[in-house]
Amino acid sequence: MSRIAFDNSYARDLPGLYVAVQPAVAPAPTLLHLNRALADELGLDAAALDGPAGAELFSGNAPPEGSEPLAQAYAGHQFGGFSPQLGDGRALLLGEVIDVHGQRRDVAFKGSGRTPFSRSGDGKAAVGPMLRELIVGEAMHALGIPTTRALAVVATGDMVRREGALPGAVLTRVAASHLRVGTFQYFAARGEHDKLARLAEYTMARHDPALAGTPGRHVALLRAVAQRQATLVAQWMNAGFIHGVMNTDNMTISGETIDYGPCAFLEAYHPDTVFSSIDHGGRYAYANQPRIARWNLARLAEALLPLMVDGEDEAALQQAVAEVTAVIDAFPDGFAQALLQGQRAKLGLQQADPADAALAADWLALLQQHAVDFTLAWRRLADAAAGDANPLRALFAEPTAPTAWLGRWRARCTQEDEGEGSGNASARAARMRRVNPWIIARNHRVEEVLAAASERADLLPLQGLLAALARPFDENPAFVRYAEPAPAQLTAGYQTFCGT
Ligand code: AMP
Ligand code: MG
Repeated sequence: MSRIAFDNSYARDLPGLYVAVQPAVAPAPTLLHLNRALADELGLDAAALDGPAGAELFSGNAPPEGSEPLAQAYAGHQFGGFSPQLGDGRALLLGEVIDVHGQRRDVAFKGSGRTPFSRSGDGKAAVGPMLRELIVGEAMHALGIPTTRALAVVATGDMVRREGALPGAVLTRVAASHLRVGTFQYFAARGEHDKLARLAEYTMARHDPALAGTPGRHVALLRAVAQRQATLVAQWMNAGFIHGVMNTDNMTISGETIDYGPCAFLEAYHPDTVFSSIDHGGRYAYANQPRIARWNLARLAEALLPLMVDGEDEAALQQAVAEVTAVIDAFPDGFAQALLQGQRAKLGLQQADPADAALAADWLALLQQHAVDFTLAWRRLADAAAGDANPLRALFAEPTAPTAWLGRWRARCTQEDEGEGSGNASARAARMRRVNPWIIARNHRVEEVLAAASERADLLPLQGLLAALARPFDENPAFVRYAEPAPAQLTAGYQTFCGT
């Protein structure tokens, strides 16, 4: 058995903020996937784990030596309503590993059985949703978007009861940490300010060590989280990603994307797109994501306030409220800047011009008006930069539709190129192809893979899709089927479901 060198700071430093729980037994575990690249990053022996030993380990049947499985307490606003007690109802933190880059990473199970936080749930997960989490997480990672990742997915040999009976699974998740907005809310809501204070100090030591011990560190922590979320959500928007369930318990302090349930990538661009079957009001629609991020950060601000004010000092409270409000109010600007920075790169621009935001907005309006595939439109814009606009025009029912906008964009490129000599076109196209992916995790391909794996135990489609997603910026002819948009009628009725 390959050893995992655990160093469990959460278990050690935060007694009272979790419950120790052992994972459930899996009757007949089989390893569906081992993420060898991630195993290497963690300093694990991937070869030794890629087989029955990995199945035993990653099912929870043989918890790794040095692990201290625990269920973390957290609360959360779900679709705007506060649940004071959520917590790890079907997840367990095994512990932390220092990776080959010296970074501390959580290693956790998802689907490993009941805990004191399970309420009426069974603590289990099904193969389909866990493979979806693996696939989308790997897609995001390859796109350069901060994310938790799946180290392994094991089929337990158990069946779980959902709409019908589904094969059960355990996913091993690696994260910068599992600290969430909801972790702070849990202790703030209970008035447990001593635990809240310990949580804040732990969080800063882990994610913002420069803040430790400084006066004003709580508002500074809020600012740091807001910056990370502004960057993250801007990256989501520029990749056409819809998280689908941005509850405060699903927003990390680290700035990583977490909890791939009803998430999906846009196909034809429309800002109101919602895929989640449970998101009736469109609260977590594509275009709403920055507003929701800000709303969630305001909930974090509220949870931090008790740490900023000593006792009943009204003036100090006013002051603290003013400080956190300034951070929350600055979020839309921070987000807009991060978004525009990403859009500039996607447009092939390297310098800032005041008209860039309008140029990007008008491009998106054009895609919306003509229901053009978001990913391919950006990708074909790189071809236009290289001198051939026909592949881009071919995405429009009316090929002349982008002519006027292309004229503005070319003028902007020319303005930037002045004085820079020749060779700009190919350099610009190459830059654009490094930030505008050819391949995303398209819904119809993901569904195809999940059906093959859970209905026929056929893992070949999974391996094929993962291989394509690992190199999203390469136009490899072997992967054409993964680059093609879904048939329109399929996308129109597409729904994703919470992975419970
Ligand atoms: P999620 O929708 O996965 O973010 O989970 C929201 C909350 O529901 C968390 O507290 C989970 O632990 C809990 N939960 C989700 N599914 C289950 C399940 N099958 N059994 C127990 N708890 C669950
Ligand atoms: Mg969650």
